[in-house]
Amino acid sequence: MNLTERDGQYLWHPYTQHKTAALPITIKKGKGALLWDENNKEYIDAIASWWVNPYGHSNKFIADAIYKQLTTLEHVLFGGFTHEPAILVAEKLMEILPKNQQKVFFSDNGSTAVEVAIKVALQYFFNKGEKRTTIIAFENAFHGDTFAAMAASGISFYTQAFQGMFIDVVRIPVPVIGQEQESYDALKKVIKENNCAGFIYEPLVQGAAGMVMYEPEPLDELMRICQQNKVLTIADEVMTGFGKTGKTFATDYQLEKPDMMCLSKALTGGTIPMAITTFTQEIFEAFYDDDINKALFHGHTFTANPTGCAAALASIALLQTDEMQVNIARVNQNHLDFQARIKSHPKVTTTRVLGVIFALEIKTESATSYYGTLRNKLYDFFIENGIILRPVGNIVYILPPYIITDEQLQKVYQVVENALEIV
Ligand SMILES: *Cc1c(COP(=O)(O)O)cnc(C)c1O
Repeated sequence: MNLTERDGQYLWHPYTQHKTAALPITIKKGKGALLWDENNKEYIDAIASWWVNPYGHSNKFIADAIYKQLTTLEHVLFGGFTHEPAILVAEKLMEILPKNQQKVFFSDNGSTAVEVAIKVALQYFFNKGEKRTTIIAFENAFHGDTFAAMAASGISFYTQAFQGMFIDVVRIPVPVIGQEQESYDALKKVIKENNCAGFIYEPLVQGAAGMVMYEPEPLDELMRICQQNKVLTIADEVMTGFGKTGKTFATDYQLEKPDMMCLSKALTGGTIPMAITTFTQEIFEAFYDDDINKALFHGHTFTANPTGCAAALASIALLQTDEMQVNIARVNQNHLDFQARIKSHPKVTTTRVLGVIFALEIKTESATSYYGTLRNKLYDFFIENGIILRPVGNIVYILPPYIITDEQLQKVYQVVENALEIV
């Protein structure tokens, strides 16, 4: 049996209907923006392996940091103990996060980072003796697959089996251009009619919805409405964090700063699963009490895993190099040039670019579903041509590792352009 056949015996893959899905491709190795399968076919990873890998596959600098940590202290429980890598990560984040973020809580993945933020929002008001139990979220949001994160997510076919079992979430429209006022009005109405604890949002870019983008100013306005009504704001920067939008965090484009931030994905450069939720001092103080019941009783066995922390420190160090900042600007300029070339193509309805993120929407006759035939046709075409891209319905987006070469990027654009001829 080859590896793909052996996979089929026991493995259950994410987001996969095994009866109808194509068999998975076995990847043997990776270097930079490239991956190779078991037949040595080469692929350009144009989505940074689900947005986690900015600095390239098998990155030696991060690997060395991990090895050093693994052979010094691989793990110690974080209840009652601490260690230097966790302290260094927290100190480093204090340098690069908005100044109002003062406390750092570790968990394991993007969903748990969101889960922690939502639990903290709810318990914050509980601890203050105020009944506030509703969470506000955007339409078509994606915040993860654990229960509270799933409740906040608005992509309905992900969640339909669980309707009626969720925490209270109300949705408002995303303030895309032309829809700002509608979004403000909806938020005010929702706050008036519910006991709202928090508002969670993907700042500036809704990743899983298909890289839907909106401007910082309307988000500032939504945040001011929340502040006036003492609704806590939660920036889910799991996708946007660590340079993807051209700044370290999408929040850096804004005047208003969130009460909490969720980080994961690129945090460890795509090496070790780890996540962080950060908080203002004021939130922390609502849990700081002589009464033990006011504490945050949440934790994971691998909380603040030292190896993950070492990977995060190495990754942030890479992000901060001039070379990496130049890479981000270079990818952005390539995207803008491609956008100028492709935007008036007869099969393209819209294009959008922010930082290293590029998206285009393909004109279609009928509304296509998330995993519709067009999407599958495009996906297969890209794979055939050695490019890893996962279209969302009729939206094709590119979110490459920052270290992708100009030549590799041009090849990705060419294949995307060619794909427009087959749809
Ligand atoms: C991917 C993602 C999550 C969930 O992260 P996981 O590590 O997959 O659990 C949450 N929020 C956003 C914005 C994401 O892109």
